[in-house]
Amino acid sequence: MSAIILEGVSKRFGDHLATDNIDLVIPNGRFTVFVGPSGCGKTTLLRLIAGLEDIDEGRLLIDDVDMARTAPAARGLAMVFQSYALYPHMTVRDNLGFALKVAHAPKTEIADRVGTVAKMLDLDRLLDRKPAALSGGQRQRVAIGRALVRQPRAFLFDEPLSNLDAALRGQMRFEIRRLQQELGITAVYVTHDQAEAMTMADQIVVFRNGRIEQVGTPLDIYRRPANLFVAGFIGSPRMNFLIGPPAAAHGAATIGIRPEHLKIADSGMLEGVVRTVEHLGNEALIHAELPDGPMLTARCSEDVSTHPGEAISFSVDPASIHRFDDDGRARAT
Ligand code: ATP
Repeated sequence: MSAIILEGVSKRFGDHLATDNIDLVIPNGRFTVFVGPSGCGKTTLLRLIAGLEDIDEGRLLIDDVDMARTAPAARGLAMVFQSYALYPHMTVRDNLGFALKVAHAPKTEIADRVGTVAKMLDLDRLLDRKPAALSGGQRQRVAIGRALVRQPRAFLFDEPLSNLDAALRGQMRFEIRRLQQELGITAVYVTHDQAEAMTMADQIVVFRNGRIEQVGTPLDIYRRPANLFVAGFIGSPRMNFLIGPPAAAHGAATIGIRPEHLKIADSGMLEGVVRTVEHLGNEALIHAELPDGPMLTARCSEDVSTHPGEAISFSVDPASIHRFDDDGRARAT
């Protein structure tokens, strides 16, 4: 069963086409991540699914029902924002139970469901606190818990972790993913952070300028990017791109090589001069300049012994070279 289906969905703001004829299947029980640079339309698409914006053209189906005439509150979706949107004057318990109270659920049911969710999210000891007395991560957990209490058929996350520091963000990514897997719930998650997309998603949807560039599993997209944009956007450090003779030698307009596929060799395919070496503790990044100008980044083991100014040579397994045509599309290999 497919939970959410978009057919030819477009949304215009004045002259600007924020989403352009989007066709997409968001599978049931899976974690789908919308990723792309700022302004590419991913939040707009999430808001169209939620019903917070009206679709100009196309259809949105949830569990096979056209949502055109279904109000946001009746769609059974729960949205979690980066700004938490907790009620400051209410305790954690009341924040968690608020939606059920508004829906006139019996008190015992509210207490039950709040208790279950609090346990799941490790909030049991914080139930009597108010949001001001919580850390950022705890607030985010309350925001997620508040959505969870409603037993939605899908979760919509809009950059929920961007206010948190890096360590907490990593932990919350893991928590959200664990919860989604445990509950087998459908999740759509918007982020501009490709690492977040790679680590959390079952399915990644890469957007640019209101259009979908590629849909696939994280590994698929990493290993077989459909075009230059996706190749450059997914993966950190970024894929190296070369044009001219090294590309022509591989029958392409541009070739792409991931930093981990450049191997230091005695006389390899690419020769240059080391400009900087970044030691990251578990690995090192070598930035080298080729004779005709372009820079290459190579990912090496931390014990690499090379220094700025030294000559360096890299070999590349031809099978790991990505080839792109004049239009930036990946060439079949
Ligand atoms: P970000 O990561 O910066 O949030 P995004 O990919 O989520 O970006 P959207 O918020 O979907 O992008 O915006 C897509 C485009 O539509 C942008 O150019 C934005 O300026 C425009 N846009 C979004 N909402 C509105 C609005 N209410 N009125 C006018 N233009 C809008």
